[in-house]
Order: sequence, then C-alpha cells, then structure tokens
Amino acid sequence: MTTFPAINKRLIVRLSVLAGCALTALFLVQCSGGGGSAIFVLEPLPYRQDALAPTISAETMGFHYNKHYAGYVKKANELTKGMVFAGKTAEAVIQMTAGDASKAAVFNNAAQAWNHAYFFKCLKPGGGGAPEGLLAEMIDEAFGGFMDFKELFITAAKDQFGSGWVWLVLDEGKLAVVTGANADTPLAHGLIPLFTVDVWEHAYYLDYQNRRVDFVKSVLDNLANWDFVAGQLEKVQPPKK
Ligand code: MN
Repeated sequence: MTTFPAINKRLIVRLSVLAGCALTALFLVQCSGGGGSAIFVLEPLPYRQDALAPTISAETMGFHYNKHYAGYVKKANELTKGMVFAGKTAEAVIQMTAGDASKAAVFNNAAQAWNHAYFFKCLKPGGGGAPEGLLAEMIDEAFGGFMDFKELFITAAKDQFGSGWVWLVLDEGKLAVVTGANADTPLAHGLIPLFTVDVWEHAYYLDYQNRRVDFVKSVLDNLANWDFVAGQLEKVQPPKK
C-alpha cells in the first residue's frame, strides 16, 4: 500500500524531467527549423486587421491573414525542409519548382505565401486615388491613361475563371496587366510584380458574396497603395531625369 506513493513520486519526478527534456528538444528543433532555418516568414500585416473596413472587413482580413496566408507559410516551410531547398530564398524556391508537376505542392504553397505577403503590402487604409510620377507616366504610356488601366484591370479580374490573381507587372520595361490561376505568380514567368489583387473567393466572399467586380473596384478606389507600387517600380526602373 505505502510503496505506490513512493514509486509514483519518483516516477513523476522522472516523467517531469523527461517532459522537460522533450520540451527543450522541441524548442531547439523549432528554433533551428529542424536542420535549417525556415525559408518563408509570416510577415506582419502592415495595418490593423480592421483598418481596411468597410472595403475589406476585419472578419475577412482575420480569416485571410490568420488562416489562409499563415497556412500557406506553415505548409511551405514544412515542404521545404531538408537539403534540396537549404539556403534558398522564397523567390528561388518558387522559380525552382514552377512548372514541375512533381513539385506542385511546394510551388503552390510557396507561391501563395509570397503572393499574399505582397498583396497585403499593396493595400493601405485611405489608399486609392491615382498614382503619380514615373508610375503614372508609365501607366499612361502602356494603357492610354489611369482610367483605361483600371478598366482593363477590372475586366481581367472578372474574366479570371476560378481562383487566381490579377497583376500589374513590368514586362521587359513595359507595364502589363496579367492574370494567373490558383497560385500562379509573375515570379514564375520572369515578370516583375508591381501590384496585385487576390481574386480567390476567400478574399471577398464574406463581404461581397459573388460580386468580385465590386470588390476589385472598391480595392482600387479605396485601398490601392500606389506609393508602395511606385517604390517597387523605382527599384527596377530608376526615375527618368
Ligand atoms: Mn488569398
């Protein structure tokens, strides 16, 4: 009768030491990424979750950031553990796996992680309006004017069948509007991404149901962060003197 408590106590001490070791080991594995640091970083949202309402509600942003985006980042990191991708950047992983059917899961999660981080930066509370400077000049040159660009971008969003993305890109020095299905990204096609809107239903369904065009229009009118886009353009296309 009396032996049980004594044994149990010793067992509990031993178990708690074991648990402590296991936790430490888990911590070390997590910190080291299990043999290489994680490639994909969960980038913080550049504004509060409710800052884009009413164009994008806090509820939509909560699901989009915490479930969809965070999910892609987690999965992309799980799938890129190990030697093949060791030391690679997110962009390199996307380019290495693009078009390779045997690496579709890696590509899809990696590209979605990258696309989402970029998309969130393309938005800001109190955005919209028209771009200025070099970006405005290049939009005029490529599309005839900002209103024509907007119309083209909205039509592209409407015509994208199923899930995907609409992009403003730089293609050999000229601006172009392109669409991609699912996780597709300009990085996989040698194009330089400048601005994007996510047209997966999860991006707008809670707020707009099937009205994708209303969502894209509202993003362009109220949230587009043209300062960010102009900054991206000037990194690759220095302003004309
Ligand atoms: Mn999305």
